[in-house]
Amino acid sequence: MSSREGYSFDTIALHGGYDPKEDSSGARAVPIHQTTSYVFDDADHAARLFALEEAGNIYTRITNPTNSVLEQRVAALEGAEAGLATSSGMAAINLTALTLAEGGGEILSSKYIYGGTYNLFSTTLPKYGIETKFVDPHDLTAWKEGITEETKFLYLESPGNPTLDIVDIEAVAEIAHQNDLKLVVDNTFNTPYLSQPLKLGADVVVHSATKYIGGHGSSIGGVIVGSEELLFEMRTEGYRDTGPALSPMNAWLFIQGLETLSLRMERHSNNAFQVAQWLESHSQVEWVRYPGLESHPQYELAQKQQKHFGGMVCFGIKGGFNAGKKLINSVELCSLLANIGDTRTLIIHPASTTHEQLSAQEKEDAGISDNLIRLSIGIENVDDIIADLRQAFNKTVE
Ligand code: PLP
Repeated sequence: MSSREGYSFDTIALHGGYDPKEDSSGARAVPIHQTTSYVFDDADHAARLFALEEAGNIYTRITNPTNSVLEQRVAALEGAEAGLATSSGMAAINLTALTLAEGGGEILSSKYIYGGTYNLFSTTLPKYGIETKFVDPHDLTAWKEGITEETKFLYLESPGNPTLDIVDIEAVAEIAHQNDLKLVVDNTFNTPYLSQPLKLGADVVVHSATKYIGGHGSSIGGVIVGSEELLFEMRTEGYRDTGPALSPMNAWLFIQGLETLSLRMERHSNNAFQVAQWLESHSQVEWVRYPGLESHPQYELAQKQQKHFGGMVCFGIKGGFNAGKKLINSVELCSLLANIGDTRTLIIHPASTTHEQLSAQEKEDAGISDNLIRLSIGIENVDDIIADLRQAFNKTVE
């Protein structure tokens, strides 16, 4: 399907970026082009490709036909002109930051973001002359007042990891554009099926494809989507020169994942909603955070900005840190690990694992309380997920 005009999301997820009639073999499934390099027609052809006078494949560190299908498909699903597949979500975020903050400057970022991104912004990028100011993403005045002469772009996650904050993308994009700046949104938790930040005014969307895009917990990768001009600059400069290309095998696995994205996101969302409601009525639960519950602080905004509410649920267990540890030691079906977006249900207690090294103040700033449990609800039968949590709660009070 080379023309994407007029097709619905589900059709693009299956056909976007690939037309069997345009492939020399006619293969119905997207082929894996597991090759490092491509034969030139002759010396002049090679020279034209190197001079960027003609589009074509030179070397898989720059382009690859399987990766191109993934790039075009995610771009089409997000409503973007172009895409770029990277070796991880962090590689996508880093390349975006290095490109937009070329020569140094400041990033103005929501403080409710994935810990790895927080570290990149607060610890690694300052070594290269890029500093970050973190703001409460719901405080529009803080966004406005945080912009200085040095600001290069604005950055947010919605929902944030792990706090599940829903940020008003339209409002923050307006502030960015009033100041001639771009807004970058990490859409990993929602995927384009639940929300499309570019349609709300964002300029660039980044993904950890490792999560719901792949869905099967088998591959690490990332995708950036945005304007043709920006993505061309990224590909022919930072991407080519620093080498964060995705392997074609992983691109192929992500394409398999995308084919069922809408089906999975609906099941993740339905299951998570039921688990969240069940948790809200549980006597050992202090609070529940899920964008589809009326108790969520940005419930109205979530209704407006999202199609469904996703697979992520957070809750606070009564009994604090020790109860949290005991609960995750007691689950049987849920897997205790540091990932999200798998078809299987995953659980983690951030205070004793992913955020263990942070000081009390840093944890508070990032919204991580000692009793917070993060669940990535899978697509199993929801009764089995609830039964596992029930038996784990019972063991926690024993
Ligand atoms: N963005 C979000 C919201 C994440 O949760 C993660 C990883 O957990 C990343 C980016 C980084 O992605 P990756 O692990 O693929 O590098």
